[in-house]
Amino acid sequence: MAQQTFLTDENATLDFGASWAQHLRAPCVVYLSGDLGAGKTTFTRGLLRGLGHQGTVKSPTYAIVESYNLPEKTIHHFDLYRFTSPEEWHDAGLDDLFSGSHIALIEWAQQGGEYVPAADLIFTFSTQGSGRVCTVSAHSNHGIWSLQSWQN
Ligand code: ADP
Ligand code: MG
Repeated sequence: MAQQTFLTDENATLDFGASWAQHLRAPCVVYLSGDLGAGKTTFTRGLLRGLGHQGTVKSPTYAIVESYNLPEKTIHHFDLYRFTSPEEWHDAGLDDLFSGSHIALIEWAQQGGEYVPAADLIFTFSTQGSGRVCTVSAHSNHGIWSLQSWQN
């Protein structure tokens, strides 16, 4: 099951992120895939705004993970770009973040190899002209539920 959306500019990516706010039910694992500058962090910023977060959203490239405690759930935004080996996932104790009512958004999930929990949804961003295109695919029953919920 997959869905493709064209995103004209940065605001379209922010709005697209916000449009998912009511359709990701915790616990949920989302991979954000695509090259540097494809729009993964911009999407996350929009989603967090849609969930009511009013502060800044930093790219977690150096910190590995930024967490946001919102009223009903916690959002963990990972960026594994700088991992030099998948063991860094284990060494950093990141599994501990996967208990409770979380939504995990993971950039560069492949850098964490098999340590990274399986995705419910994968959002793949790519450049198209001066805009972006995002393909969303569902990889679990939970992911299918979310995607259908978003489509309706
Ligand atoms: P990533 O996290 O994938 O490396 P970022 O979201 O940090 O990418 O950066 C994406 C860049 O592209 C930002 O400069 C942002 O303003 C821009 N951008 C985001 N969405 C779009 C879009 N739909 N069209 C054009 N530019 C976009
Ligand atoms: Mg990023």
